[in-house]
Amino acid sequence: MDAGLKRELEAKVYAGERLTREDGIALYESDDLAWLGRLAHHRRTELNGDRVMFNINRHLNLTNVCSASCAYCSFQRKPGEKDAYTMNVDEAVRKAGEMAEQELTELHIVNGLHPSLPWHYYPTVLRELKAALPDVSLKCFTATEIQWFEKISGRSASVILDELMAAGLESLTGGGAEIFDEEVRRQIVDHDCHWEDWSRIHRLAHAKGMKTPATMLYGHIEEPRHRVDHVLRLRELQDETGGFAVFIPLRYQHDVVDSQDGKIRNRLQSRTTMAAPAESLKTFAVSRLLFDNVPHVKCCWVLHGLSVAQLSLNFGADDLDGSVVEYKITHDADASGGPHTMHREDLLDLIWDAGFQPVERTTRYEVVREYDKAPSLADRRSEPQQVWA
Ligand code: SF4
Repeated sequence: MDAGLKRELEAKVYAGERLTREDGIALYESDDLAWLGRLAHHRRTELNGDRVMFNINRHLNLTNVCSASCAYCSFQRKPGEKDAYTMNVDEAVRKAGEMAEQELTELHIVNGLHPSLPWHYYPTVLRELKAALPDVSLKCFTATEIQWFEKISGRSASVILDELMAAGLESLTGGGAEIFDEEVRRQIVDHDCHWEDWSRIHRLAHAKGMKTPATMLYGHIEEPRHRVDHVLRLRELQDETGGFAVFIPLRYQHDVVDSQDGKIRNRLQSRTTMAAPAESLKTFAVSRLLFDNVPHVKCCWVLHGLSVAQLSLNFGADDLDGSVVEYKITHDADASGGPHTMHREDLLDLIWDAGFQPVERTTRYEVVREYDKAPSLADRRSEPQQVWA
């Protein structure tokens, strides 16, 4: 990038001017990672100071049986496959109850598009979970699942959301977004929920008072311009509804051989690599700068590794995914080397060691507890630092 354009972009960011599609593409073309980080950190600090939010959540997947076969997905199984599973209501409540012993405040539930589970199963599970765990927030279902429920129930998304909210639903999840560009999407997604339906369902959820997350799956066959377009669609919808609480760039993951059947399910694997740390940090930085009207940018440490998660806090992110035990749809493998479990104390150390102030939040981003600021470097020099994988 030439020095003139660099100065121009820098001036826009420091003046708080909205960046264009061309600006976003130019930022991705820059190889000056430190400069990108500085711009993104400026914006992140304007919005969120040196705070890093987190909550204590657990992921629960009620079924891995799915009617679709998305090319990148290593989670889905077909009916009859030996490791296909579907929890009945009691199993789901028992499993959530076991997790609740670890002080969780949020359950994150996403599932395959099960071909024969009846619609009433879903509100029933939510109702029973809420009865068993009244203090736990239920963040459940992607827009893709809501559209699936429309198909299997004959109900509208509006009626479905009303029924789920009456059963205890507090927020949708942000999944199913992947990359909205139709040409890329045709190659990676195998269900019918595309931008029109995804945005229709989130718009509806916002109109009903929900705050929802938005995601982007990056680092597979898409190009930076597709990431820019993806974020700009979301920014426009956010101008309209103001209902997105957070944007979450999700790093596309390779499958490892499943120990149970030896199959690699990710059909993109032979023609893709996973995003390198520098590419991830660039994606966080550009996302923070372009998506100027979303309050938070979250890093899911389980998909990025702990060191990149820490660094992302200097590249625009101000929110860390909580202490996940199971994270299946984009991280089905156990042999990828990354940890799957973090407890509150681990997250606090991770945030303090990166030099930020931890703030525990609710699903709706209300503050539960502000922790002390990070000790000064001079104080910390006398202590052994953690080594984060
Ligand atoms: S990503 Fe979701 S919809 Fe697609 S195959 Fe996997 S579980 Fe099914």
